[in-house]
Amino acid sequence: MPESLLAPYACHSAHSRGRRHPEPTAPTRTEFQRDRDRIVHSTAFRRLVYKTQVFLNHEGDLFRTRLTHSLEVAQLGRSIARSLRLNEDLVEAISLAHDLGHTPFGHAGQDELNACMADFGGFEHNLQSLRVVDTLEERYPAYDGINLAFETREGILKHCSRRNAELIEAREPGGVGRRFLAGERPGLEAQLCNLADEIAYNAHDIDDGVRSGLITLEQLREVPLFDRYRAAAQAQYPHLVERRLLSEAIRRMLSDQVYDVIDTTRAAIDAHAPADVSAVRRLPALVGFSPAMREQSQALKRFLFQQLYRHPQVMQTTEGARQVVRELFAIYQSTPGEMPPAQAVQAREGDAQHRARTVADFIAGMTDRFALREHERLTGKRLLG
Ligand code: MG
Repeated sequence: MPESLLAPYACHSAHSRGRRHPEPTAPTRTEFQRDRDRIVHSTAFRRLVYKTQVFLNHEGDLFRTRLTHSLEVAQLGRSIARSLRLNEDLVEAISLAHDLGHTPFGHAGQDELNACMADFGGFEHNLQSLRVVDTLEERYPAYDGINLAFETREGILKHCSRRNAELIEAREPGGVGRRFLAGERPGLEAQLCNLADEIAYNAHDIDDGVRSGLITLEQLREVPLFDRYRAAAQAQYPHLVERRLLSEAIRRMLSDQVYDVIDTTRAAIDAHAPADVSAVRRLPALVGFSPAMREQSQALKRFLFQQLYRHPQVMQTTEGARQVVRELFAIYQSTPGEMPPAQAVQAREGDAQHRARTVADFIAGMTDRFALREHERLTGKRLLG
């Protein structure tokens, strides 16, 4: 959609709050198209293909990875953005970048790395995603990171503790940390990516969960949001095999959630009538589900938490994953020379905090299989193989 057709409350590329390192505009692309392209060409983006979403990367080739998850978030986000005349390019850029800071092994990896970093400021994946695009990518002669526009960075930093917001505010006054201190919201595109993330993982975790055999359609009868579409699909097509029934129920569920978000958000926008993005930032969050859909989505989340994420088979890999991260962290901390030369030199340059952060950045950047290979090389133990 050309920018001239965007709603007044959308983020317009021409009114972007800009990049940390000013650059001339591009002849054929908007600022957010450029951001998307920079993200797609980044090293961290390519690594997402070998990073766990819920199922470890090597458990099967059909399950979601961080990369396919990010593509699904972008698809859902863009569909909704177009209906609401929001900036699709910005939604795409934020969606593709939102998980760049994830460690190997999904939440198990992030929790363990956070524990390892307890004395050094902790580890948090949203903050790490911002760190990847601001600092860790090494692609440009004049600066570190890929120098994304403010609005894209704002969307990437979807949560932030007060302490971390103060640290960001200190080095970037009025920047992406400010809204957490001022109690403001981000632009609608960022709000949308947040919700598209939730819609995407709820749906694809049902799909992967059933296909892995860890949860069943029978168990899902206790989840009204899903079971209603399963029952309707089955009534219409009584002889469907389970695989197709599952896909059809998920497809219907996704459509209904998308329409619910569009209707609910449109009503909220009409009620508040924000004149522009600045007005949006001062209003309560406008992108959301209706109360009924919100409640049912929460119930689905609770089901997935109890039945899938806490499934004994998933928990078993969780323990192994935590051990890999814990032992890698301890080894690199005591022997930085086990890291590649660039990281080894960097680790020796500063204080203990600097060394720990260098190690955390190195581990966070790893794919699942690289982490396992490194762990085996350094400990002789083969875990999760
Ligand atoms: Mg995500």
